[in-house]
Amino acid sequence: MADLVQVRPEILEEMLQHARSEPRIECCGLLAGRDGVITAIFPAKNALASATAYDIAPRDLFDLFRTMREQGLAHMGIYHSHPSTENAPSARDIEQAYYPDQVYFILSPRLNAPNPVRAFSIRDRAVQELKIEIVAQ
Ligand SMILES: [Zn+2]
Repeated sequence: MADLVQVRPEILEEMLQHARSEPRIECCGLLAGRDGVITAIFPAKNALASATAYDIAPRDLFDLFRTMREQGLAHMGIYHSHPSTENAPSARDIEQAYYPDQVYFILSPRLNAPNPVRAFSIRDRAVQELKIEIVAQ
C-alpha cells in the first residue's frame, strides 16, 4: 500500500462532523471511491453504542456494501472515532483489523485535538500512519 491516501476535502469534513455529533460514543462508517480517491462517505450506526469500541451490524454492512456497488464505488476505508483517547489504533483496533487493504481513519471529536483526522494501514498487526492528501474535484 502507498504511504498516502487521497481524499476529497468534503469527506474529511463530514467524518469529523459525524464524530463531533456523537461525542460520547465511537462513531463509525465506511468510505468508498473510485480511481484511488475517496469520494463517498457512508455513516453507520455503532451497534455497541460504546465509548471504547465500535461494531457495524452485519445487516447494516450488507446494505452499505450493496449501495456502494449500485453506485459503482469501491470500498476503500473504514472510519471510527476515539471520544476520549488519542486517535491512534488501539490494541483492539489492531486485533480486529480484518481488512488489510483498507485505510483506517481514526477521528477525535475533541475541539483541542492537535490532529483530529488520522489515517492508518493495519496489516498483520503492523500499523503505518498514512499521509492524507486532499484532492479537490
Ligand atoms: Zn479505535
